[in-house]
Amino acid sequence: MTIRLHDTRAQELRDFVPLDPSNVTMYVCGPTVQSGPHIGHVRAALSFDLLRRWLQLRYGRVTFVRNVTDIDDKVLANATDAEPWWGLAYRMEQEFSAAYAAVGIQPPTYEPRATASIPQMQELIERLIERGHAYPAADGSGDVYFDVRSWAAYGELTHQSVDAMEAAEDADPRGKRNPQDFALWKGAKPGEPADATWASPWGAGRPGWHIECSAMARRYLGAEFDIHGGGLDLRFPHHENELAQSTAAGDAFARYWVHNGLVTVDGQKMSKSLGNFTLAADVLGRHDPLVVRYALAAAHYRSSLDLSDSSWSEAEAALGRIRTFLERAQRTVGGHGWMAMGSLPDAFVSAMDDDLGVPQALAVLHETVRAGNAALDRGDADAVRAALSAVRAMTGALGIDPFAPEWRASGADAKTTTALDALVQAMIAQRAQARADKDWPAADRIRDAIGAAGITLEDTPDGTHWSIDG
Ligand SMILES: [Zn+2]
Repeated sequence: MTIRLHDTRAQELRDFVPLDPSNVTMYVCGPTVQSGPHIGHVRAALSFDLLRRWLQLRYGRVTFVRNVTDIDDKVLANATDAEPWWGLAYRMEQEFSAAYAAVGIQPPTYEPRATASIPQMQELIERLIERGHAYPAADGSGDVYFDVRSWAAYGELTHQSVDAMEAAEDADPRGKRNPQDFALWKGAKPGEPADATWASPWGAGRPGWHIECSAMARRYLGAEFDIHGGGLDLRFPHHENELAQSTAAGDAFARYWVHNGLVTVDGQKMSKSLGNFTLAADVLGRHDPLVVRYALAAAHYRSSLDLSDSSWSEAEAALGRIRTFLERAQRTVGGHGWMAMGSLPDAFVSAMDDDLGVPQALAVLHETVRAGNAALDRGDADAVRAALSAVRAMTGALGIDPFAPEWRASGADAKTTTALDALVQAMIAQRAQARADKDWPAADRIRDAIGAAGITLEDTPDGTHWSIDG
């Protein structure tokens, strides 16, 4: 077995050789819980869910850590008098967890909050100061900076030289030696909440963002681990700085750096100013979660994923083909064939082993569905059974088996909703006709019947919408 992964540091595909094949170790940067998840967050987490599932299938065990950044400038900035920073952080963490769970992302083995590892961060900072790679700011602000000029390898992840880099903007330039030096510890400033500061040898303050991940990765996975993951936008400065801190402190740190591509909407970068900022909750409110999972998984994890209305309809159609085949096949070969979980086709395994080639793997899946349908048409029960078990194995590996327990309910709900929508739309059309005919008693009767079923109608300029009360 040889799995190849694209390693950002090496800038090429490398054979994946885990430190311990009986326990693959992965650290993925989790969200800064300052506001709710957008669809790019879900895509990033899903990319690593697919990788984790595949490594689990190939190696048996994966220890997967994804942190929660619950203390950060942005979390403090979004707190209000009515909701303290830690209340906001906890509420947003729950929103992230709900969005992840909705699309079938498995919970991490460990999910540490940054605020629970402050001693480990301070210990790492002390080690860096001892080794001459970090210094407390000369102006007495209580800040501690990483000294980028002291570490010759700085820039190795993103292949940049210090001279070409912009100034680090993660802290005020109070007492920095070089503009590119970044904050490991941020001295408390006047006006900041007292419960957002921790005592330290350098004065009261809080950790910088980058040191949080270095300390948590070390605490839960050790000084060296297999894979560090995150979105492409985290390569610099976040991951560059994590790598510099940890290696300068004497840790080997991550052996492979894996980055997922970003999400665009209708060909444009998501941004609040463009009005195309797509919240996960909105997407999950409009589409079956399994359709969302499929649509987000279908592009290669490293390519940027452009979402448009057709993304969802294509995913829905693809899942419909899989579901229809599974139902037809089950009727033909019965319960025994249904239960059998066959082995994965070689072409599927090769595709997944080759840098998690999900698009190629999905092509094998749909080819098997086509072959299975052809076998059904000609009455070849053995071939149907083989296709059925292969399709279930492949959809299982990708977490998209529509008949797996986690999706069965959502699939059934989706079908019920579709059926209900057809009936309610028919009644809405009858009511509209009655009103056009000025037959007010008939229009009221229809409205009352819909209301008696617990359904509320809302007349808007773009038509009548319905929802279920409560
Ligand atoms: Zn991180």
